[in-house]
Amino acid sequence: MSLLTDLPLAPRDPIIGLTEAFVADPRETKVNLGVGVYTDENGRVPLLRCVEQADERVVDGTRPWSYLPIDGLPAYRSAVAGLVFGDELAHERVAVVQGVGGTGGLKIAADLVHQTTPDARVLISDPSWENHRAIFTRAGLTVDSYPYYDSQTRSVDVDGMLDALRAAEAGTVVVLHACCHNPTGYDLTPQQWEQVRDVVVERGLVPLLDMAYQGFAHGIEEDGAAVRLFARTGVAMLVATSFSKSFSLYGERVGALSVVCADPDEAARVQSQLKVIIRTTYSNPPSHGALVVSTVLGDAELRQTWEDELGSMRERIRAMRTRLRDGLAAAIPGADVEHFVVQNGMFSYTGLSAEQMRALREEHGVYGLDSGRICVAALDERNLPTVIEAVAAVW
Ligand code: PMP
Repeated sequence: MSLLTDLPLAPRDPIIGLTEAFVADPRETKVNLGVGVYTDENGRVPLLRCVEQADERVVDGTRPWSYLPIDGLPAYRSAVAGLVFGDELAHERVAVVQGVGGTGGLKIAADLVHQTTPDARVLISDPSWENHRAIFTRAGLTVDSYPYYDSQTRSVDVDGMLDALRAAEAGTVVVLHACCHNPTGYDLTPQQWEQVRDVVVERGLVPLLDMAYQGFAHGIEEDGAAVRLFARTGVAMLVATSFSKSFSLYGERVGALSVVCADPDEAARVQSQLKVIIRTTYSNPPSHGALVVSTVLGDAELRQTWEDELGSMRERIRAMRTRLRDGLAAAIPGADVEHFVVQNGMFSYTGLSAEQMRALREEHGVYGLDSGRICVAALDERNLPTVIEAVAAVW
């Protein structure tokens, strides 16, 4: 008998399981639309030119790879504050720490919330990125959801969402997808964001904006609008940032957590507590990815290259959505397939049932999630005909 004897086998991550099934599938025409990774027109994860050039500078700088400060690279932290908040508020009011990806930023946020208000409830959207529930639950918090997606109307159930927020107790943390909602692809309109902001402020809720896809919906500025809307209210808020997608730096684990505070003194206290959380979790963050990102964001030319490259990724996704919509409209006369172009970002809720998604996989080798989610950022000219034919066959 040891401490491990009664340890049960944890359930497998569904997306990893799907990838394994995909890899084992012998069909040459198979298509993996399961994982949330952007691939280019050749089906490859791109190495952005801005990243390549910044990387050369970082390597040429031949520095010893010493430890970073606990809260990360100072230049990176200021670059994040600039990107996320612009000049919407004084950066002295914001505590910013480098995170190990966006996930790391969320985990630090969860630990901070648990430290300040251990009984706080966290509300996530229904549905949401699966890890939201897991991260906040594991940090010891109670997680519930607010209505978000209405499958009948294929749109956001904003009335249901607002009612749930109105019914929430003061101090409840509300996790909001800043743009490109994962998994549905449906975002709030600017007017709906204002309604949500009003309820959050009136009810004394704590907004936590998860920003994993800035630049993938309409543009860097446009996609940051919801964060800045909340920043203007003056309420305490948290923002988790991920650069995994926007810099195509998935494995470098580059992210951040920003906490907007009442004043510089509060920000200093928050920063000190965030450092304790980090120190006792992984001591200090990795340096390479953050050096690359801060080099790009801090250099006018590289930043312009990044904005252009991010724009190309966004436009390629939009083009694939349009091609999918047009192809399905032609293949399934009378079918309503407009939702593919209404949604934003890398994901699309297709509206297909778990049964249909299984048929897509088994009969056609097209891999998406049972929820009906597909990654439209993995579509390209070569796999589109297969996907259109398969979706039309199971529609
Ligand atoms: N939040 C959301 C909504 C996401 O979709 C993701 C990535 N799938 C993350 C956070 C985490 O990003 P990262 O890979 O940088 O940890």
